[in-house]
Amino acid sequence: MSTHSAVDIITTKRDGGALSDDAIEWMLNAYVNASVADEQMSALLMAVFFQGLTPRELIRWTDVMIASGERLDLSRLSRPTVDKHSTGGVGDKISLILAPLVAACGAAVPQLSGRGLGHTGGTLDKLESIPGWRAHLSNEEAIEQLETVGAVICAAGAGLAPVDRKLYALRDVTGTVESIALISSSIMSKKIAEGTQALVLDVKVGRGAFIKTLERARELATTMVGLGRSHDVATVAQLTSMNQPLGRAVGNAIEVLESVDVLRGDGPEDVRELTLSLARTMLELVGIDVDPLTKLDDGSAYEVYCRMIRAQGGDPEAPLALGAHHHVVTAAHDGIVQSVDALGVGIAAWRLGAGRARKEDPVSAGAGVRCLVREGDFVAAHQPLFDLYADDEEHLARGRASIENAVTLGDQATDVEGILIERISS
Ligand code: URA
Repeated sequence: MSTHSAVDIITTKRDGGALSDDAIEWMLNAYVNASVADEQMSALLMAVFFQGLTPRELIRWTDVMIASGERLDLSRLSRPTVDKHSTGGVGDKISLILAPLVAACGAAVPQLSGRGLGHTGGTLDKLESIPGWRAHLSNEEAIEQLETVGAVICAAGAGLAPVDRKLYALRDVTGTVESIALISSSIMSKKIAEGTQALVLDVKVGRGAFIKTLERARELATTMVGLGRSHDVATVAQLTSMNQPLGRAVGNAIEVLESVDVLRGDGPEDVRELTLSLARTMLELVGIDVDPLTKLDDGSAYEVYCRMIRAQGGDPEAPLALGAHHHVVTAAHDGIVQSVDALGVGIAAWRLGAGRARKEDPVSAGAGVRCLVREGDFVAAHQPLFDLYADDEEHLARGRASIENAVTLGDQATDVEGILIERISS
């Protein structure tokens, strides 16, 4: 590979030009080995933020990210592999139900996940509320569990697309997180390196999602689907609404409890509907002709869940305690619920202690919110709207302050929107 000038690369992109494959490879690798400085990479990220990447540049950028680390080889598994990635929402516990459900239908689901940051919770944080459960597995342990149980949810090892960690940390402090090219390459490099054959993307749109408009959600979904397909990963995206929280529970242990309700054939209708829709798409992508509803109803998804938790040291039947400090938020007057603001509820759960502000912060297992009403419900004055749980009074007070205005009441009957918006497959 020839030597390039970081300044030439930055100015080319700043002025709307396209970078050669060689220039992209050189720049990212030089950044990893510290011969390109943070301030130069920051400038390039800002140029990409404004000018974007062409499809060819994006594929190259993603390839270099993948090649910066290891790539798991899942080809020796006896089942086809399929994963799901969500762009993050409030009350999004779908992975906990979906991974064992799809495994119960005959696929292997390698869910290599991250932790929550800000108002959207992380799957690993939720599962860590189960006593004994271990998020960190070696690659060999994860592959072994995929073969024997069919599902694994564990921490993505540092070996997958390591340049992403460095780039993401820089994007976080330079105002360049919200670039479609940078988000797509970040998410897809890790999923492709994970070695899955097929992938379903749950792209959240609305008040509680980081993508607020349908137009941007479509652009992100189309870009990620294109990247997956160009790397031989059969990829489909589902755009789903994130205006009100998903289900009733928002937090850690409280979301595990709700997931178990769904796995036992019960639970909130929107969680069931989204899980089954994603499961059907995952199974279709790997050619398995089983109706996942039968596996929820006959208890086999719950059985796989119990095996998955036990395989990682957890006790799936251990009682999970909610925070000892409790407060009920009630309606000020009668009315019809016009909106339940997912962002407000997510921030409240975070302030109650369920989320973290910095990635090294601990989270509380028992903190969280139970949403007692949904859009379109009629409520009477003083009727409970939310149950809040925290480990101490200070966190409880912070959560209370954030959730005061999360429910809007009015006189109008509302058209409640469905959760599934559209599917993008090319
Ligand atoms: N999640 C990621 O992994 N990367 C992004 O850039 C955004 C969300």
